[in-house]
Amino acid sequence: MAGRTAPGPAPAPTAAPARSRSARAASLDALLPALPKIDLHLHLDGALRVATIAELARERRVPLPTYDPQRLRHYVQVGPRCRSVAEFLATFRYFYPVLADAAALERVAYELCEDQSRAGVIYFEARYAPVLLAHARFRPAETVRAVLRGLEAGGRDFGVAWGLILCCYRGAPPASSTATVRLAAAARDRGVVGIDLAGDERRHSAAPHQRAFDLARRLGVPATLHAGESAPPAGVRDALDLQHARRIGHGVHLEEDPDLAARVRDRRVPLEMCMTSNLQTRVVRRAADHPFGRFLRAGFCVTLNADDPGVSGITLIDEWRRAARTFDLSLAELRTVALNGAEAAFAPAAVRRALARRIADGFARVAAGTKKGKTV
Ligand SMILES: [Zn+2]
Repeated sequence: MAGRTAPGPAPAPTAAPARSRSARAASLDALLPALPKIDLHLHLDGALRVATIAELARERRVPLPTYDPQRLRHYVQVGPRCRSVAEFLATFRYFYPVLADAAALERVAYELCEDQSRAGVIYFEARYAPVLLAHARFRPAETVRAVLRGLEAGGRDFGVAWGLILCCYRGAPPASSTATVRLAAAARDRGVVGIDLAGDERRHSAAPHQRAFDLARRLGVPATLHAGESAPPAGVRDALDLQHARRIGHGVHLEEDPDLAARVRDRRVPLEMCMTSNLQTRVVRRAADHPFGRFLRAGFCVTLNADDPGVSGITLIDEWRRAARTFDLSLAELRTVALNGAEAAFAPAAVRRALARRIADGFARVAAGTKKGKTV
């Protein structure tokens, strides 16, 4: 990423001496679980617990290399040695077959609420592609009903708010995308808040799915698109100009087009950034090279998200920790990240305002505690 410049004012220099930097990182670490967080880019099918994969597979006689969760971890999670997007996605072949019925989807949606709540997430938007999980005996609409049942019960039991995004899929027939948009529009009163375009952006452009995104705009369904993750920023421009995107998934390569980056910053187009995932898929080589820190300090509406926490072996706390340590973020900067999440959510305005209040209160409480205990 060397040689690329972010538009706008230069980032504030981090002049703190090394010892105070590490002291701040250590005290922030302890606070991270309690800070109110928002996750807007979270794949339901990439967020499964390893033990649940083993149990669902055993019940359904789905063949796995092992049913021991400790050993299964090596097949369904990637670590620092992951070399590519392909290697990352290869893990999905093990657990996708267990998501083939309503009971399994309802369970993983329910467990996601518990996991998010434990990580201090107050609101999340989960997403998945009905076209990938449906089959002859499990219609796309049935997958949506099952996921919504799990989220409704989990949200109630674990006190976490949520929205559901339905993904169109780049490699799937365009007709499946218009069908997905209709499903999203029909289920808006039950918690579906938007649509997405997922899949390999280097091999499949968004163009064949244009009708679906035009339909979404006509029906008032907000869109976010995976763009500028592993492909040049032209995909981000198309997402904004052609596919009516209100948010961008990733946008890691945005700095390659300074004019476009300035537009994204000035119009406060939210970027759903996922550092851990980008590092594991080698979209970004080193954490310090990730544009998240530069974007945050240049005033972009950036958010931090877990992407596929089950595959990455993380929670949103780990994602925040990585960003905080890499860029020596202050509590005030983390508050900005959380508030950006409330601003960018596809939830109704009243919900977004309530989330912003909870974030302000939560951070104020934590800040008051740190002054009292002199930990920062
Ligand atoms: Zn994603």
